[in-house]
Amino acid sequence: MKLGKRFMKIATAALILLLAFSSSSYAALQPGGPSTNGNTNINSTLSYKEVIKILEDIERTSKGKVEVSTLDQYGKSEQGRSIYVAKVGTGPQKIWIQAQIHGNEKLVTEAALQLLKTYANSGERDVQRVLQEATLYFIPMYNPDGAEMNIRHTKVAQNGKLIDLNRDWTLSGFEAAESKVVYAYWADVQPDFAIDLHHQGLKQVYGTNESTSFSLGISLSPDGPTLSKTPYNDITKQMMAYVYDELKDYGYTHIDRYQVGVNREQGIGYDIDIKGGVVSAMMLGLNYDNLNPEGHSHPAVFFETKGNSSDGSLGQKSNGYLTKQNYLALKTLVYGYVTGEVGTVNPDDWYNIPYYPLAGYMTDYAGTIPAGLGSGY
Ligand SMILES: [Zn+2]
Repeated sequence: MKLGKRFMKIATAALILLLAFSSSSYAALQPGGPSTNGNTNINSTLSYKEVIKILEDIERTSKGKVEVSTLDQYGKSEQGRSIYVAKVGTGPQKIWIQAQIHGNEKLVTEAALQLLKTYANSGERDVQRVLQEATLYFIPMYNPDGAEMNIRHTKVAQNGKLIDLNRDWTLSGFEAAESKVVYAYWADVQPDFAIDLHHQGLKQVYGTNESTSFSLGISLSPDGPTLSKTPYNDITKQMMAYVYDELKDYGYTHIDRYQVGVNREQGIGYDIDIKGGVVSAMMLGLNYDNLNPEGHSHPAVFFETKGNSSDGSLGQKSNGYLTKQNYLALKTLVYGYVTGEVGTVNPDDWYNIPYYPLAGYMTDYAGTIPAGLGSGY
């Protein structure tokens, strides 16, 4: 298949570079161009300061292509840290990529930075195409306080309350400063499409003994109670089917659908249908404090990589591989979206991605809804 071949070419080129420059796997992930600042060493637990340093390095060596700034004009984190954004590309389609909204989910920041660096330095034709068609907005560390504390949440300065920033984009109001800052910026940018990067605990692909390395997620379940009433029911399924087709034969990747409450003995799992998740609120066009009066909305999906840095499930050995898988999935989806290839996928191919038979939906507005009763909500 045409797309698969293109992908394998990228993967093979990356492998050759990896062998050639085995002292720096970071450099190996820059297909089409040598690393101009090989002294930058990205490891699995980038601190806030290291992220800023890398962003500044990328900006400096990008020949004006990458613009790094803070969101200080909208505010800062609960502990007073600036939230950073990097912008690259000159095209009209606006693509939003955010990582580490959960502070103990580390490798995704590295993957986002590697992709930013590719866009900054690579002369590869696919990359040039993306930069002509789109402008990309990267938020590589959404939750700097949580990242520094190595916890999922942020902590509200005033009362010490722990807030999950990915449940905080609600009409009733944001509890954490970070939510207000990023939301206000989002309302200004008005993206066309967003990808949100996460880590998850260990699970296995349904019907196999393979450990899931990567899950594809849509936070309002496709064909479920909420998404089927929006314009994004098909496009989100197409996006994930596209990524699955492109990556399923790559290396040791074991991809499945993101689900929760999985029970292997009973052979059941649940989809999530949460309205307060950031990518959900984007699809629902949240208008908070009248910052989004037109109700701008857009499709948004998320990726889940195996393991996190709190429960010790990340092994040094696999980190490079997990990051690369994330990087390739991101790069592939951006290309497929920008070129319109995603739009040619059959939405029903979503059901080719392995998943546990659906027992119901876990929601943040009506508890658990059994499958089949979804349309009543
Ligand atoms: Zn997460």
